[in-house]
Amino acid sequence: MCGIVGYIGENNAADVLLGGLKRLEYRGYDSAGICMLDGGELHTERSVGKVQDLADKVYQNLPENIIQATRLGVAHTRWATHGEPSEENAHPHLDQSGRVALVHNGIIENYKEIRQRLTAAGHSFKSQTDSEVLAHLIGAYYGENGDFLQAVCGALNQVEGTFGIAALCLDQPDCVVVARRGSPIVVGLGHNETIVASDAAAIIAHTDQVIYLDDDDVALLKRDDVDLRNIHNVPVSRDVARIEWDARAAEKDGYDHFMLKEIFEQADSLCNTFRGRLDVKQGTAILSGLNLTPREMADIQKVLLIACGTSLHAAMLGKYYFEDLADLCTDVEPAAEFRYRNPIVHARDLAVAISQSGETADTLAAVREAMNKGARVTGLCNVVGSTIARETGTGVYLHAGPEIGVASTKAFTSQMMVLMMMALKFGRGRRLSIQKGLEIIKEIERTPELVAKTLELNQHIAGIAKKYHYVRDFFFIGRGYLYPVALEGALKLKEISYIHAEGYHAAELKHGPIALLEPDVPVLALACDVPGKDKLLGNVEECRARKAPVIGIATEDDEEAVSYLDEVIPVPRTSTLLAPLTAVIAAQLFAYHMARFRGCEIDQPRNLAKSVTVE
Ligand code: GLU
Repeated sequence: MCGIVGYIGENNAADVLLGGLKRLEYRGYDSAGICMLDGGELHTERSVGKVQDLADKVYQNLPENIIQATRLGVAHTRWATHGEPSEENAHPHLDQSGRVALVHNGIIENYKEIRQRLTAAGHSFKSQTDSEVLAHLIGAYYGENGDFLQAVCGALNQVEGTFGIAALCLDQPDCVVVARRGSPIVVGLGHNETIVASDAAAIIAHTDQVIYLDDDDVALLKRDDVDLRNIHNVPVSRDVARIEWDARAAEKDGYDHFMLKEIFEQADSLCNTFRGRLDVKQGTAILSGLNLTPREMADIQKVLLIACGTSLHAAMLGKYYFEDLADLCTDVEPAAEFRYRNPIVHARDLAVAISQSGETADTLAAVREAMNKGARVTGLCNVVGSTIARETGTGVYLHAGPEIGVASTKAFTSQMMVLMMMALKFGRGRRLSIQKGLEIIKEIERTPELVAKTLELNQHIAGIAKKYHYVRDFFFIGRGYLYPVALEGALKLKEISYIHAEGYHAAELKHGPIALLEPDVPVLALACDVPGKDKLLGNVEECRARKAPVIGIATEDDEEAVSYLDEVIPVPRTSTLLAPLTAVIAAQLFAYHMARFRGCEIDQPRNLAKSVTVE
């Protein structure tokens, strides 16, 4: 959520910062801003809308010689939490003296109280944000002691909530100070330059050597040095890690949108997820990151799958896998509720936190709660080195490659794959025979071919989307393994096309929502040939009796299903375990084309952020 970039080095800071913001655009934002220090002056610009609008402003308003001379600055894309998206609420915010500039990601929960205190002391505020209060607080400390790092530490000790920050001070033209609690900050160590950002996408073009800050770390960055402290100003040390991505992974590579590129990458991304992780002798999966001995695995009595959004739908699928393959009692836990209930968690439970970014605030909070309650906790993340991956210390990376489109696609299918492999591994340690394990492995190895065949349906799906893209409401229905796909298909459509879409268990429709069906409320039925299909076709009949047109994602050559449907998206025949995979890819393409025909901003849908780092 939102993006921070900071730079200090030998290159033109304006270009680096604006280039970095562009690479972070996918995270979601509503306004942007930049502040650079040169010639004893802070040059600040802010704008509502796109990073390009900000760039236009910078290059129009600042003289060329100043732009060329800037070597240091901070920049921000804001996803408003406190105060509407407007120029004055956009970051950077300055302190009372105008000497300190700050960009902030997160929420300062006690900002009202601090604002009152500072107002009483004569401060005046220009925005409605919580972030400006932190800028003033840093400025107030700096005014007292003249030590910038100490001032940042002092202020951070006063605030409650979450922050990722980058700050600069007029009197310190050779440093940027950054800190984090709950919001990611990655420091890139270049050659005579240091570039800091909310994620690696803004750094990879400069260097692959990075330091991931931990919560309550503060760092004083110079162009050739990083001084790491905690918020009590005590030195700490952190390892230097290497970003494994290829810089090209963050480019559209000829596709119109990142989302389409990522949908089409799924044969490869899935291959990367299972490569080297299948034991074809023992019919099991090799997931050493779980760090569990066979005895410890056998001892697990319940699995808790904790997630939000699309990952929650993967978790729902995971429940089917764990129950069917591993005979393990499995609960799906929406992360946002977990720590506000009183969940029953035992030491013999395994909590699996599923988050593409590994930074999702609700999931992270649930991880900490499950740990407090004594459960084993493991992470299932795509972003290497992310907070959930580090805090859980064990887990399975998706290896799906960077996912830039806000609507998750390839991460979902890789999550599904990892959950299937985990269930296979637990199953093999329990009652699943080697024979059955080997069959599942064969299925997994077939996935790239199944995905490739499904992607061939792209034009056909576009044709159907063209016919229906004008509608206002849509229902998605499914049963069994295809029920979570109904939810995910509806979510994709909502996210990017802004059509009101509801995913329902097909049998639940008649308990209420069927009242909404009429000729211009179409239904997309997940009608693949898996157990439950006959009942689903009965539900399709119920929809058609209410004159709702029904589009079916069905198994190719299934004449019976075809006879029930108005439109058919014929996906390749698969086992039940993999039916959700082909079905969801078809649903992703459907949502994509619907949004395209409606002229929507597919990669940056309104109001949404890629990684949701606030509760
Ligand atoms: N809470 C801050 C604001 O509303 C920061 C939001 C963000 O993370 O972009 O300005």
